[in-house]
Amino acid sequence: MRDFLSTRHRHILIFMQLKTQLYIDGKWIDGASTMPVTDPSDESIIANVQISSEEQCIQAVDAAHWAFKSWAKTASRVRGEILRKAFEIMVSESDRLAEIISRENGKVLSDARGEILYAAEFFRWFSEEAVRINGEFRTSPSGDKRIIVTKQPIGVSLLITPWNFPAAMATRKIGPALAAGCTVIFKPAGETPLTAIAIVEILERAGVPAGVVNLILPSPTGPAIAKILKDPRVTNLSFTGSTEVGRALLKEAAARVIRCSMELGGNAPFLVLSDANVDDAVNGALLAKMRNGGAACTAANRLYVAKEIADEFTEKLTKAMGGLKMARGTTAGAQLGASISIKERNKIAELVDLSVSEGGAIKTGGKVPVGTGAFYPATVLSVKYDNPILKKEIFGPVAPVVEINSDDEAIALANATELGLIAYVYSIDLKRALNVAESLEYGMVAINKGVISDPAAPFGGFKQSGLGREGGFSGIDEYLEIKYIGQ
Ligand code: NAP
Repeated sequence: MRDFLSTRHRHILIFMQLKTQLYIDGKWIDGASTMPVTDPSDESIIANVQISSEEQCIQAVDAAHWAFKSWAKTASRVRGEILRKAFEIMVSESDRLAEIISRENGKVLSDARGEILYAAEFFRWFSEEAVRINGEFRTSPSGDKRIIVTKQPIGVSLLITPWNFPAAMATRKIGPALAAGCTVIFKPAGETPLTAIAIVEILERAGVPAGVVNLILPSPTGPAIAKILKDPRVTNLSFTGSTEVGRALLKEAAARVIRCSMELGGNAPFLVLSDANVDDAVNGALLAKMRNGGAACTAANRLYVAKEIADEFTEKLTKAMGGLKMARGTTAGAQLGASISIKERNKIAELVDLSVSEGGAIKTGGKVPVGTGAFYPATVLSVKYDNPILKKEIFGPVAPVVEINSDDEAIALANATELGLIAYVYSIDLKRALNVAESLEYGMVAINKGVISDPAAPFGGFKQSGLGREGGFSGIDEYLEIKYIGQ
């Protein structure tokens, strides 16, 4: 009882102290109206945040434009040190931040803590990259001129993020933008504004000057974003979200030919070759599928398993998935939390029903639980290669397993999609795994690992999974212009 009370009191305290305002030009301000933020575990309202009017969105552009002149000229060491400070604050306050994520997003605390530490690492990584923006000096082959290549910040950047990783998707953009010397207008997902507000407040405490980071929460979203994209002072758009919205934004951005980087949907194949260690592959599949309750662009969406080991793999995966504890994210020992909303949960249920109606066999899960909250159980399905569930991004805890006859068949099935974010390969023969990896049309391939995301590695996809890369050495390039000076 005492434990329960102290946890409850901690939640109340955290939520009482939360800011719910917009942040424009270094000031926390009210909007024209408010919108509720819901805990998907019980559908209760945990806060009401301010909605920015279209006029306030343009005020954010004014502020970012004005601040750009001095921020771009601020010594890169100073920019880096501010980001470093933000990293330190995030790590020291990771418990508080994880609770905010867990409450507004539904994910379990262990996932939320993992996300905060991962998110903070983008600030640390880009604090180090800020001072390593290189240029070139060469003489032309004809010998008649000097080629001087410099890089300069692209300018006011509009950053739009989704709800599934509300902290990490924000820092993966804000980190390189600030390191490069850009100023930003940050628009988080409507479902998860509290994490975004908490991150912006940390940046303020770390010393980010007024106007450099501006937080807007428009509703409806489309018209306000369209207005911002029409503003000639906005020179860069970085978006993470669905391919559908990404495509629409690319069309809008085309009118002014502004720079775009797009991190879009995934439909990740998880290949288990005939010589794979089955236990390792099951553990990897659990990680690749169940991180974030399956609501990840990197989530294993189609599990292609060699026929020789398919029964053993499916049986072990079914046992592991079926044994996961599903509960509110902040419950001790919870391993699977709620989806973001009842609407999203119902989409998952509909996909499973569709799969079953087309011949899919449920091994575990597959039924919407009785009671409140956007819960859906961990589900394993055995399906044929042409089952309709394999064509959709499931974004939930559902693992469809397909039996395959050869490596070539697995590669062909894996590549038969317009998306190409990440693929996974399990084999004990590294040469075989590398050969398969080279044939996969994906921006990232994980070999014998269930998670490979790393702030130091380039994250991004082929085909309609996006444009550009975040993180690694190339992440900062999305915020830099190249200038050639010939002399
Ligand atoms: P979403 O519906 O595309 O929303 C993403 C963001 O776009 C939200 O901030 C949303 O704002 C905003 N948005 C929606 N309509 C808009 C419009 N007409 N104009 C401008 N902005 C608009 O995606 P989601 O459901 O939040 O996230 C899931 C998707 O993100 C999945 O497809 C997943 O694969 C993808 N994702 C990709 C990566 C990656 O790195 N490749 C990482 C994470 C997630 P509102 O909330 O206000 O509508």
